Amino acid sequence: MDPKLLLVEDEPEMLEEMHTYLQREGFRVLTACTGKEALAIARSERPELVVLDWMLPEKSGIDVCRELRQTSHCGIIMVTARSDESDKIVGLEIGADDYLTKPFSLRELSSRIRALLRRLHGPEDRSMLERDNLIISESKCQVFMDGKEIQLTPTEFKILYTLAARPGMVFTRLHLLKVALEDEYTGYERTMDSHIRNLRRKLGDDPANPRYIQTVYGFGYRFGERS
Ligand code: CA
Repeated sequence: MDPKLLLVEDEPEMLEEMHTYLQREGFRVLTACTGKEALAIARSERPELVVLDWMLPEKSGIDVCRELRQTSHCGIIMVTARSDESDKIVGLEIGADDYLTKPFSLRELSSRIRALLRRLHGPEDRSMLERDNLIISESKCQVFMDGKEIQLTPTEFKILYTLAARPGMVFTRLHLLKVALEDEYTGYERTMDSHIRNLRRKLGDDPANPRYIQTVYGFGYRFGERS
């Protein structure tokens, strides 16, 4: 799915220019001319990133930014005609992720948007796949359907993760077999068990009900999350 952007700008010509350019660049683009409209659209459409003009009638970009931050983790690029350094600091303090001074080229805007989207989808989320009503966490070896966890064997999990990581791509049976067969090389991994045993002993962890290093049957181990 292409990233969804919301452009907030009260100058119609500029808004139209940005809209056309970014759409051509492959973004899904929503637009708003006032702060009030922007907040309403942000609530209903949940864009991944908002390009927000500082100088808006009625509600200023700063107020919109502050209100957006209370309910959303979307990326925010503030746009201003003033190049005052203190504006930049205010913008970043109230939760904007980046700051762009007018006049700027559409190409620069587009590359800033891409850079911010990359930052937002940083390494922490990379192992988490969201597909349709499924959430697949590689780091936690868990699959959720409509928010409810589904129990899969390690082999099933690896096959599902491999397929879901590249929707639409065809994998041969042989390829998937190799993915699944990784499980066969468990003998070598057994040496890890003795390390874990020693670690638990040193941490005072109860092997029957470990608090720190927990066994995930068939997968390996994980560090316990405090509830
Ligand atoms: Ca303006």
